This record gives sequence, C-alpha cells and structure tokens, in this order.
Amino acid sequence: MTADSHYILVVDDQMSNIELLDELLGSDYEIRFALDAEGALQRIAQQLPELILLDVMMPGTDGYTLCAQLKADPVTRDIPVIFLTALATPDEETRGLEAGAVDYITKPFTPAVVRARVRNHVELKRSKDILLALSQTDVLTGLANRRFLFDRLASLLPDPEQHSRSLGLILTDVDDFKRYNDSFGHPAGDHCLQRIADVMRAALRGQGDLAARYGGEEFCCLLPDASQEQTLQIAERIRADVEALHIPHCRTARHPHVTLSIGVTHKPAGRHQPISELLGLADQALYQAKAAGRNRVICAKDSEEDQPAHGA
Ligand code: GH3
Ligand code: MG
Ligand code: MG
Repeated sequence: MTADSHYILVVDDQMSNIELLDELLGSDYEIRFALDAEGALQRIAQQLPELILLDVMMPGTDGYTLCAQLKADPVTRDIPVIFLTALATPDEETRGLEAGAVDYITKPFTPAVVRARVRNHVELKRSKDILLALSQTDVLTGLANRRFLFDRLASLLPDPEQHSRSLGLILTDVDDFKRYNDSFGHPAGDHCLQRIADVMRAALRGQGDLAARYGGEEFCCLLPDASQEQTLQIAERIRADVEALHIPHCRTARHPHVTLSIGVTHKPAGRHQPISELLGLADQALYQAKAAGRNRVICAKDSEEDQPAHGA
C-alpha cells in the first residue's frame, strides 16, 4: 500500500456506467474499476484509492455493506466514498450517508455535477492528508514527532490481556550539544541535528520501524519484533555512523567530533510493560552511557532477569 496513490476506484456492475465515468473523469484522474464488492476489495488491497465511486445494487455484497466494511477498517476508513446510484429516496440517501459515505449522487446524474463533487472531495482529502502528515512530523528533521511516537508506542504496548510483540527501543542524545551551539551557532546546530536524523532513518530495517524526534537533541527508535541483539546492533550502527560523519566539535567538547550517547531497552514478546517504564529504563541506560564517558551504547539491565529462578 502506498500513501501517494492517486487513482479513483469505480465500483459498478454495469460496464456502461464505468465507461461513462471513465470518459467524464479519465482526463483528470486515473480510473480503475471493479464490477462487484469482492473485486473492489482486491483492488483496494493492492493499492489504496484516493476516492471510491460506489454503486449500491450489485450482485453479491451491496454497496452499503461494502462501504460500512471499509469504514470499520482503520486502513481504509479514510478513503472518501461517494455513492452513485439509481436509488433516489431520502431513506436510501440517509442509509448511504450513515454507512459512512461523504456524498450521495443519484442517477441519472449531471456530468458537470459529478465532476465538481469528485474534485471537491479529492481536494478535501488531499488537504486532510497534508494536515495529518504535518501533525505527525517534526519540522526540522522530517522524522516522526513526539506525538506520533507516543501513538505508535501505545499501539505496540497493548493492554496486559492482549498479546504484545517484542519491541526494541533506542534513545539517543547528542553529546555536549550545548557547547556545539555556543561555539558554532544555532543554525549549525540545527543542520547537525538534520544530519543525525538522516543517520537514524538509514539505520532502520523497514516499514515497521520508526525513528522520531523525542525532544530537542534526543531521538528515539522503535523496532517492533526485533531481538535484543538486533536492537543493540542497530544502536551501535547509529553511534558509529554519527561518529563517522566527522562533524567537527568545539575544542572544549569531550570528543573531537559530534557523537551520541545511546540507551537501549528491549521488551520480549508477551511481557507487559507500560510506556513510562520502557522509556524510563532507556533513559537510565542513556544516563549511564553519559556517565561512562559518552559516545557509547548501554543496554538497560532486564529487571526480570534479576529474579531468582523458580525452584532454585
Ligand atoms: P550532554 O552531553 O550531557 O548531553 O550535554 P548537552 O550539552 O548536550 O546537554 P544539554 O541538555 O545541557 O543541552 C542540550 C542542548 O541541545 C541545549 C539546546 O540548546 C540544544 N538544542 C535543543 N534543541 C535544539 C534545536 O532544535 N536546535 C539546536 N540547534 N539546538 C537544540
Ligand atoms: Mg539532552
Ligand atoms: Mg546532549
């Protein structure tokens, strides 16, 4: 699935209707089609459409049911759905809107009206997507912001009753960064943070991993399903790659180049740990890395390993 999909999905069991809409909208949008709900779901699973034009009466699953199904799934619920149907009573229209559609157009339709409504809803969706991305992104570095980080943490650390995945957490802090700013100025400090952010991004394994700006010069990586060893490897790679940038530090700094101190913690699958505890452990490890001389990675001690073994 990609976020930048810009096609409109037309779902209608009449090929003639699909051809009509393709003629009407094809010069402004990429049009793909499905002849029933099942075909629509297949298309959507391949790539999310930007908008769906949906017929109500189709063999098999009807349009209302498909719409409600899409609105119940967090992955598809934000796709705007417009019903395009011969069912013209107020009751039918109400039913369509209550199923979660943004609009309801009755057939026979006026081409200019369909074009205008589609354009309005596509523009609205694009604006919403931009606002959503802005609300989740750190402006300076382009990484996820703190709000997004905490939302993701909450989804990765579910209630004690639910089974949770393993999670590696890396917390980094730039060494002697106040002195860097004092010597080279804030804009140079900002540029330095951008270069560090690029290193963090490059160290991630793929889509499920997240690098976020945690605070001023502190970053946090979440590595779902990673082992402790993998988490430590990635943390060490981040440390080494930042040092290898060879960004000159000031004379009074403890290292000649800009470096990071890093605290790491790891939660095994199935263990319940609240967000505050996990972050607290990483923060303690980070503090130890600072105290031990900076430019190093320290892994938090697993508190449960201290417990005496059962039956011993
Ligand atoms: P330590 O090695 O103990 O971490 O020392 P430090 O000087 O890095 O720690 P301290 O917390 O005293 O300083 C953090 C500095 O980070 C202070 C602040 O000016 C700087 N900082 C925080 N956010 C930004 C930012 O967005 N841009 C720039 N340029 N500097 C920032
Ligand atoms: Mg700090
Ligand atoms: Mg610092």
